[in-house]
Amino acid sequence: MTNANNYVPSARAQAFLDTVESPKYERHNVNGLKPFLDERVPEDMRGFYSQDELTALRDLKGTERDVEARMPVKVTRHYFDMARHSAPLRRLVKASPDETVSLAGAEDPGYQMDYSPVEGLIHKYEIGLLYVTSTCSAHCRFCYREELIGRKEVERQDGTVAKKGLARIEDITAYIREHNRLVENNGGLHPESGRERLREILLSGGDPMVLPNIKLAEWLSALAEVDIESIRIGTKEMAFFPDRFDGTFLAMLEQFHATYPDVGLRMMVHFNHPDEFLVKDADGRYAENPNGSLKWNDSAKRAMDGLNALGWVSVENQSPIIRDINDDPDAMRIMQRALKRVGAENHYFFCGRDIVAHEAFNVPIETAWHTLNESQKGLSGVETRARLSITHYKGKTEVAAVTNGPIPGVPGTENGVVIFKILRNAASAPDRGKVCIVGRNPEAIWFGGYADRVIYDEAGLFDYARVQAARVAAEAVGTAP
Ligand code: SF4
Repeated sequence: MTNANNYVPSARAQAFLDTVESPKYERHNVNGLKPFLDERVPEDMRGFYSQDELTALRDLKGTERDVEARMPVKVTRHYFDMARHSAPLRRLVKASPDETVSLAGAEDPGYQMDYSPVEGLIHKYEIGLLYVTSTCSAHCRFCYREELIGRKEVERQDGTVAKKGLARIEDITAYIREHNRLVENNGGLHPESGRERLREILLSGGDPMVLPNIKLAEWLSALAEVDIESIRIGTKEMAFFPDRFDGTFLAMLEQFHATYPDVGLRMMVHFNHPDEFLVKDADGRYAENPNGSLKWNDSAKRAMDGLNALGWVSVENQSPIIRDINDDPDAMRIMQRALKRVGAENHYFFCGRDIVAHEAFNVPIETAWHTLNESQKGLSGVETRARLSITHYKGKTEVAAVTNGPIPGVPGTENGVVIFKILRNAASAPDRGKVCIVGRNPEAIWFGGYADRVIYDEAGLFDYARVQAARVAAEAVGTAP
């Protein structure tokens, strides 16, 4: 949980905080595998895991393949009710012995901790990311924050090893003030890091929406007080427990806006599959509205409408493409169309990261590109805004194109090429727009799969000290991708 003990709100912030109503929510979670193993879950939840599945999971307990040591099990009643009628949703929340067949991967794959000047803050771009909680209403088995949610130890750049800590308001606001003061005094760029002013903050974790309204309000007002322009809240709560977006939450946002009218808010929602928000009939088909559009379930629709009705909050979806969950062009097409119709932008789809056990979840990069590209056939321009991104150590990179035929006269292109394009990198994105072209490898699930087939690399994706060091270390222990 956040620790705001030493944080003293300004008079303006306190006046806002005094208006906040902060009810408790009952999500009827099942926490851990034990209630399933001991048959202590409600009667109608007992068949969620078959006896064979429970036996296999029980046998792994305490071994190095223990699935819960990797990622704790958690599901809300709302999500369970949808998942019982959806194989992709079951795959998303049900632990499976497959997860730990291969434990190859990294606890901090993007070397995020290289960019953590203060506990709980990742500061790589002009946007900073805060870990404000270490849990979510339910847990996705593929989560790439499993090291935070599982409270694991992570190695820092200086060689120290420790669990990731959570952000504290007083530390973060002091850091932002000082960073922005140095930037301003130095003509717009930080004198050492070359970064711009910190003007945007993403509240993340874990899922900030598990925090009570008053904690969220403390963060929002504290960030507004240090002149942050835009705040994002990264959340999967609209899938796990959409009733969290209730009148008290919306009233808190309205009051925040009345107090700090110049601060923007972006809800970065996380839907992976249309089964997470559309109504299905008894035959498993999506129910239609009278005009033929697909019908949202009441609670998710209420949540979406409530946010959109505020008028100053944008809603954007981003999702990884995960094997057996949404590596399905038809499901992806339905999702992008249904989201855009109700006012949610399709922002990014991601290739899975090379976290520990990623081999159970990641689809090959070229498959992910093909899935998204196929899914966008038949959609209108505004429905196809999402790009496929892969998070290179260097920064956010788009998988821009995959070709099929050889480029005449260019060795290495016999089976076609993959074109990567840098979207963001540290500081002021000096490499934005630079590309890297590699020969195809349909099996590659990470950059390492292309290391021996680089054709052109103005982006420097394969000439980056951290990547080389990681590869040498991985080869030494036999876990190179
Ligand atoms: S909601 Fe996000 S942070 Fe939480 S378990 Fe799922 S992927 Fe991880």
